[in-house]
Amino acid sequence: MAIIKDNAVVLRRLDYSESSQVLAVFTREHGKVRLIAKGIKRATRGRFAPAIDLLDTGHLVFSVRTLRQEALAILTEWTQSEAGAALRDRLDRLLAAQYVAFAVAELTEDWDPHPLLFDGIRQTLTSLTTDTQTLATVTAFQRCLLHEVGSFPILDHCVGCLRPIQARGAIFLSSREGGLLCCDCEGARSEKYAIGRDVLLRMRGEPGTLDAILPAFRAFDYYLSHLMGKPNPISRMLLVAC
Ligand SMILES: [Zn+2]
Repeated sequence: MAIIKDNAVVLRRLDYSESSQVLAVFTREHGKVRLIAKGIKRATRGRFAPAIDLLDTGHLVFSVRTLRQEALAILTEWTQSEAGAALRDRLDRLLAAQYVAFAVAELTEDWDPHPLLFDGIRQTLTSLTTDTQTLATVTAFQRCLLHEVGSFPILDHCVGCLRPIQARGAIFLSSREGGLLCCDCEGARSEKYAIGRDVLLRMRGEPGTLDAILPAFRAFDYYLSHLMGKPNPISRMLLVAC
């Protein structure tokens, strides 16, 4: 039996009863871990600690028999460092955090560490409580997630003909092809998503216009949906709330 100390953010509640809950957490050093929390109850207005709730960040100690996919760890200690409650003051921020949690849960494997992704999630959750541009914060997270899971699209040349993207002409993003398609190559592909030049700048992380934030979010969301094999269920609600 291994005793492990780590930092984690709570992604998902998988099961819940009066006395225990099964959670999917994303730890910094061990990746996604499914664990059972007995006697550590959900936070309520009247009950302060020990509590663990969705989107909370904290330090934890857990024990586990094997570091394998099917292993269910047992949470023994939880010290909250940042409460997800701060995100609940505004609907757009809460939905943005839920969007983040869903995408991480879907695109990471159990016991597959991504420390920089953990740092990115933490940074995103902190930024969401202060930043005014919620969608810009989420788009920065989408970039971080795609980089860290090794699926960032090729955004500097056409994946069809390998030529640099020209200054003129339509450009498309293809999730199946893993990047951009120029106007000469897009005709032969049915799976593609049209994007503008200003949107491409935003997607590359370069300074762009404020108008490009929403379409850049949508383009990455399109790309992530294909990677996950399903749409992020929070996406539509988030767009309505922002
Ligand atoms: Zn091409």
